[in-house]
Amino acid sequence: MAKGILVFAEVKDGKVKNVAFEMLSAGRKIAGQTGDELAAVLIGKGVAGLAGSLAEYGADKIYVAEDDKLAQYTTDAYSKVLADLIKETDPATVLFGCTVLGRDLAAKTAQKVKAGLLSDCIAMEIEGGNLVFTRPVYSGKALLKAGIPESSPAMATIRPNVLTAEPGAGKGEVVNYAVKLDAGDLRQVIKDVILQISSRPELTEANVIVSGGRGMKGPEGFKVLEDLADVLGGAVGASRAAVDAGWIGQNLQVGQTGKVVSPTLYFACGISGAIQHMAGMSSSKCIVAINKDEEAAIFRVADYGIVGDLFEVVPILTEEIKKVVG
Ligand code: FAD
Repeated sequence: MAKGILVFAEVKDGKVKNVAFEMLSAGRKIAGQTGDELAAVLIGKGVAGLAGSLAEYGADKIYVAEDDKLAQYTTDAYSKVLADLIKETDPATVLFGCTVLGRDLAAKTAQKVKAGLLSDCIAMEIEGGNLVFTRPVYSGKALLKAGIPESSPAMATIRPNVLTAEPGAGKGEVVNYAVKLDAGDLRQVIKDVILQISSRPELTEANVIVSGGRGMKGPEGFKVLEDLADVLGGAVGASRAAVDAGWIGQNLQVGQTGKVVSPTLYFACGISGAIQHMAGMSSSKCIVAINKDEEAAIFRVADYGIVGDLFEVVPILTEEIKKVVG
């Protein structure tokens, strides 16, 4: 019978993504209630050294799947390895971060092992003996609680930043997993990777996001947002209107067809608050809206609202915050 929780630990730039620690911490609490094993899996090349950090956040067992063919992420290779591991170890639950990679891998792996997948979850708990996930629906207007007990395993992607990463020692047994990959398993070959260098945190993992919309008036308008983001060590985001206008890259779009973010602090500057934008940021812990239209829908979800011209308000905010953070 399927048993235990398996967490996919995504690695980027030689580090485990924080969302893996967040899922392990939540998984530890659930495993504590059910008595099940909490395991994690590292896939890649040269990733074995990261196993210790997963044990520090509660992993009892860490599967390490290393191979030259896994040096770069490809859907085919990673999903094959993960599906093989799932078939052999039979976990009851498999968790992925709701990142670009995690969403892709979860969907393909679920298809390969014929499992049910709940995407974009923000909480999980045991209810009536079953693992139940919470996920926003209708672009964040309502929350749905759902479980898939008939699926073995049940799979879910969890938004970064919604669960709290808390250290909790696990047994940390490392199991080297023998990768079985044939040439026929690899339809995609990565020939070159062009890195986009940024000193700012990645959007989905940032604690602070300063986003701009059509109200930025043009690409140069984003300079005031970058200054505020840099003072707070945050990321810059955007509405689709700003992206479609070509003022900022699509990789920074927040919303239904962009990235889903849950930072501690989200600034929406010159953004009206369309439902498709709110679908991507409404689970932020504190929302500050700056808009010159006091009727703008964004004020309905904002914790703090400033009615005014963002080109006057944002530089003042930046200067005042500089005085506090130095
Ligand atoms: P607008 O709605 O034009 O708002 C601009 C705001 O700026 C206004 O409220 C105005 O008062 C304010 N403003 C102007 N000048 C200033 C100033 N100087 N100071 C302060 N405030 C000022 N949108 C997304 O964002 N993300 C998505 O993922 C997304 N996906 C979509 C998917 C679909 C299928 C569809 C149909 C739409 C999607 N959209 C998405 C688009 C969405 O419907 C809105 O069109 C878009 O979010 C509007 O962007 P905006 O708020 O920047 O622009």
